[in-house]
Amino acid sequence: MYQFEYARAESVDQAAARVADGAQLLAGGQTLLASMKQRLTQPETLIDLGALSSLAGICEDGDGLIIGAMTRHQEVATNALVTQKLPGLAHLAGGIGDKQVRAMGTIGGSVANNDPAACYPSGVLALNATIKTNRREIAADDFFQGLYATALEPDEIITAIRFPMTKRSAYAKFKQPASRYALVGVFVAQTSSGVRVAITGAGNGVFRHEGLESALNADFSPAAIKSVVVDDSELSGDLHASAAYRAHLIKIQTQKAVTTALGQGG
Ligand SMILES: Cc1cc2nc3c(=O)[nH]c(=O)nc-3n(C[C@H](O)[C@H](O)[C@H](O)COP(=O)(O)OP(=O)(O)OC[C@H]3O[C@@H](n4cnc5c(N)ncnc54)[C@H](O)[C@@H]3O)c2cc1C
Repeated sequence: MYQFEYARAESVDQAAARVADGAQLLAGGQTLLASMKQRLTQPETLIDLGALSSLAGICEDGDGLIIGAMTRHQEVATNALVTQKLPGLAHLAGGIGDKQVRAMGTIGGSVANNDPAACYPSGVLALNATIKTNRREIAADDFFQGLYATALEPDEIITAIRFPMTKRSAYAKFKQPASRYALVGVFVAQTSSGVRVAITGAGNGVFRHEGLESALNADFSPAAIKSVVVDDSELSGDLHASAAYRAHLIKIQTQKAVTTALGQGG
């Protein structure tokens, strides 16, 4: 590690001002610190959001839930509101990395980072969530913009994410066994505007699949997607899995997620 300045933010506005001056936000550090150790990124100043209690916690908001950006994965996995109302999201958070990653990593850091194999982006997109920042609200459909790219401006800070209630939701992940990230992860949600299917791990970033969504809108059952074609021409292929295998996994994980969601009743 090299030398850098470390400061604790005293408010969101102060953090934003420091970021505008070139500092980088530190949340759980589970991605950022590893990138710094490898010199993939070399910020001169880190501004730590950890002491801002206004950014952490989970509460009800009308017919939805608001999860603060600094809420740790373990809290999302075990919180009673999330396990009862959005069980798919609680399951997703409980399957991230290992205990240390879940104890430290935050939903805001994960969504801001938008790793193409991260779990949260699929939950946020499928559940039609809204990303709240210090300046505005961004619909999930507009937020994720490809490989590590989001709609965030360079000095914009995620403060919370709002999830509307869904009838049923579930996440099925086929893990990359060494990293535990998603080789393919599929989040399925029955929302008020229809079924949404968001896929992570298989491309340059999280994406929805129109064919799977229309089949499940017609018949919400694992059998409904048997004849859906998942085109592998734009999927990732690497030493862990070919694009064709990832296409196969997308259908299998979608069927698993639908089976789990049906088990939730409704
Ligand atoms: C061994 C290991 C296994 C993992 N397995 C998984 C897995 O299975 N699934 C999965 O999804 N993830 C996995 N992760 C990643 C983990 O979920 C991280 O916690 C997450 O990617 C980053 O969150 P963080 O809070 O640690 O953010 P940090 O590392 O602190 O920050 C990440 C980036 O986001 C920016 N940032 C942070 N907070 C905000 C904010 N509020 N507003 C704007 N920008 C912000 C930072 O400046 C930085 O650029 C794993 C990580 C490790 C080390």
